[in-house]
Amino acid sequence: MERVLEESLTPPLRDLERAGLEAPRFEDFDWNGDPEYASLMMWGPDGGGTGLSVRRAARLEERVASAADQVQEWAIETHLWGAAPTNWPPCPNHPDTHPLQAVVHDHRAVWLCPADQSVMAAVGEV
Ligand SMILES: [Zn+2]
Repeated sequence: MERVLEESLTPPLRDLERAGLEAPRFEDFDWNGDPEYASLMMWGPDGGGTGLSVRRAARLEERVASAADQVQEWAIETHLWGAAPTNWPPCPNHPDTHPLQAVVHDHRAVWLCPADQSVMAAVGEV
């Protein structure tokens, strides 16, 4: 895996692991084809694949938030849809309502409550 992808994915994968969710199997495959982006495929246990990409020129916190958002989407579709409530990572203030949202806040990639805009944790520290 390219370093630009690896450093973007390390924090969200830590959150995934702590939640007890199996990480995707990564395949080095540049499906995007745009040299401004680094991309790969994420494969789930059911054989479904989803692409992930990050913009090479973006700052680390932007790439981490973007990767977290894409890993979250993958996790919800792969692990949680139709099984558990589709809220990973769950919002501590509204655990039955919505998952947290990965955004850049104060130059950090964080998980935010989309309802009241509270910053709950840094990505990688849920
Ligand atoms: Zn909330």
